[in-house]
Amino acid sequence: MRYSGFAVLKEALTGHRGWGPAWRDASPQNAYDFVIIGGGGHGLATAYYLAKEFRQSRIAVLEKGWIGGGNVGRNTTIIRSNYLLDGNQPFYEFSLKLWEGLEQELNYNAMVSQRGILNLIHTDAQRDAFIRRGNAMILNGADAELLSTEQIKQRYPFLNTENARFPIKGGLAQHRGGTVRHDAVAWGYARAADQQGVDIIQNCEVTGFRIENGTCIGVETSRGFIGAKKVAACVAGSSSRLMAKAEMRLPIESHVLQAFVSEGLKPLLPGVITFGAGHFYCSQSDKGGLVFGGDLDGYNSYAQRGNLPVVEDVCEGGMAIFPNLGRARLLRMWGGIMDMSMDGSPIIDRTHINGLYFNGGWCYGGFKATPASGFAYAHLLATDTPHPTATAYGFDRFATGHMIDEKGQGNQPNLH
Ligand SMILES: Cc1cc2nc3c(=O)[nH]c(=O)nc-3n(C[C@H](O)[C@H](O)[C@H](O)COP(=O)(O)OP(=O)(O)OC[C@H]3O[C@@H](n4cnc5c(N)ncnc54)[C@H](O)[C@@H]3O)c2cc1C
Repeated sequence: MRYSGFAVLKEALTGHRGWGPAWRDASPQNAYDFVIIGGGGHGLATAYYLAKEFRQSRIAVLEKGWIGGGNVGRNTTIIRSNYLLDGNQPFYEFSLKLWEGLEQELNYNAMVSQRGILNLIHTDAQRDAFIRRGNAMILNGADAELLSTEQIKQRYPFLNTENARFPIKGGLAQHRGGTVRHDAVAWGYARAADQQGVDIIQNCEVTGFRIENGTCIGVETSRGFIGAKKVAACVAGSSSRLMAKAEMRLPIESHVLQAFVSEGLKPLLPGVITFGAGHFYCSQSDKGGLVFGGDLDGYNSYAQRGNLPVVEDVCEGGMAIFPNLGRARLLRMWGGIMDMSMDGSPIIDRTHINGLYFNGGWCYGGFKATPASGFAYAHLLATDTPHPTATAYGFDRFATGHMIDEKGQGNQPNLH
């Protein structure tokens, strides 16, 4: 069924009896051409583009839980392409362009909202760094604008611009950045992939790889062995645990990242805003809740919940830029497991095992990458060559020293 305003009207008048399930509940077959492990945003997008753009068939997505239960449904929904380094910027700009046409492409309302993102500046040195970043973005075809404190005051009158420990001295805006309803992205890709003939198999955990003579010929799962010509791992925070089953040790650590949402408030925050003197980012959801987050908890963990010191730190960051946040009540908080790479940038590459591919290391930033990651991974799986925007995302950069250290933090995963 094609979703449209007309369909909504028709169903409203006929008792909503025509809505079918958005995708089939497929049972695993004995073998596929492509098995994608992980039904998060990246795995589902990969399956969709593999079928739609690269005309491949016999594709399955294996998800150990349910679609949308991982980080794709836990993030703070921010999309942007305000990256500095050549290895990253074209990839994230490609992703933003895909977001711009995504709802039409998938025939699904993912609530893509280009409400803009503003990174606040608090020191002169930070202004220099943001001017450099803005210029790099413009050189790569993205949009960027440096705003003065006066311009920021007009748009965000409630911000504590002067009477603050870290006065606001301007900001770098990307007006095409914004937010997207995260779980709708998973559902939209799942439905569109299903329509292309992809089998989406939930409650099917991959428990091992079957590797013969250096070639991966399939996966062991909680629902039996499934053969595959190509196996594509795409499990975000579970990357290290999964690839250990193929005896691979990854340049990735897993850390908890928490997020928070306040009670519903009247419209207050028109766009996404980030604090430049600490780590705090915030937007307002269409239901009115302030959705915000900050740093990782800072220790290795696979538990999808965090601890109180980070709650305090995040709230301090929020209070530093808009003290009226202190009067809002917190509605919910939750955690997700981040696949933090050594240089803060992702990996989309073949492994040393024939037929086994890897996508991971997304750190805090994988949601905005979802469309491009899916497209680039599908390109790699279909052609065995990296997509032009993802050539820097190889494993070999850790051996050759060609790091893509966007934050300049060195090889310390919890700082990226
Ligand atoms: C609190 C929080 C806030 C964030 N905010 C942002 C943001 O604002 N902007 C941004 O760009 N990014 C953000 N991110 C990061 C982003 O959400 C992730 O980088 C991205 O979602 C990871 O890709 P995914 O969607 O494929 O992951 P997931 O949705 O986690 O998908 C991986 C899937 O693999 C499954 N799986 C694991 N092991 C197995 C197995 N053995 N067999 C089968 N299936 C398996 C899991 O169940 C899971 O469903 C945030 C993350 C968190 C946690």
